[in-house]
Amino acid sequence: NTMKIAFIGLGNMGGPMALNLHKAGHEVQAFDLSKPACDKLAADGVAIAASATAAVQGAEAIVTMLPASQHVEALFLGSNGQPGLLAHIAKGALVIDSSTIAAATSQKVAQAAQAQGVDFIDAPVSGGTGGAIAGTLTFMVGGSTAQLERARPLLEKMGANIFHAGAVGAGQTAKICNNMLLGILMVGTSEAIALGVANGLDPKVLSEIMRRSSGGNWALEKYNPYPGVHENAPASKGYAGGFGTDLMLKDLGLSQENATAVKASTPLGGMARAIYAAHSIAGHGGEDFSSVIKMLQKKQA
Ligand code: NAD
Repeated sequence: NTMKIAFIGLGNMGGPMALNLHKAGHEVQAFDLSKPACDKLAADGVAIAASATAAVQGAEAIVTMLPASQHVEALFLGSNGQPGLLAHIAKGALVIDSSTIAAATSQKVAQAAQAQGVDFIDAPVSGGTGGAIAGTLTFMVGGSTAQLERARPLLEKMGANIFHAGAVGAGQTAKICNNMLLGILMVGTSEAIALGVANGLDPKVLSEIMRRSSGGNWALEKYNPYPGVHENAPASKGYAGGFGTDLMLKDLGLSQENATAVKASTPLGGMARAIYAAHSIAGHGGEDFSSVIKMLQKKQA
């Protein structure tokens, strides 16, 4: 059955996710602060609202896909004395936040939502822009079982795997564990390819050998950091689109903050954070995170 859905945040991930809800027959009202992001979706036939407040009018479900904690908190709870979006959301509505943010922020917004009779779950995703376009994302949900079951029909239109991680915030914790591992393995994969290339190996041949060997991983399967190995990977498109270095840096910051809080030992996560920070400062913050291989390669003469 058709639902009225507000979708806020139409970037590399949110754009294709909103389009999949639209294609599934839902009545989507989309909004982003960036006009180009709105225009792109409008060209695909999705209705664009004049503001976030306008988008949530009459919405039964609200999906958000924003960069970081501060964007989610400011949007829902308000900032600079301005009221947040929660005040405009109908009682009984469901909010699905798929941004990767601090678990504590998800819990804070969920509590405020509950006080207004609004359900709020964290449902961060994995699978990259390819997964967002294909509708095959993995969702990691934090919330009650009843809330997850409410969200499931919508999540199924955007993803292929839906996991219940635990109470609100638990989806975020699962996500930062995953992304800490992803950050580490992208650096490791880049080092290995750069080493082989420095020895004169063909990056395609070496990547295929490692993919089928004990070093095989997601980067070697789908997201090779070396240009030209995977035609559709950001590396083959000048590191445009994809998952930004600064977003990976944010996630590695979240995992290190969390490790500090629970006194966990995450030495490689810490090292990966430092490497992405240096890469960002060198001017690569807006490029896809697989561009970290540039730090590890001999410069072309
Ligand atoms: P992005 O930067 O491409 O898009 C974010 C969008 O949010 C931008 O278009 C921006 O204009 C918009 N925005 C920011 N504040 C807003 C506001 N107040 N109201 C309306 N729009 C606002 O980022 P992305 O790659 O789509 O990632 C979004 C989230 O998903 C991040 O938390 C990221 O860590 C996570 N994520 C990304 C990927 C990926 O592969 N790109 C994969 C999994 C998870």
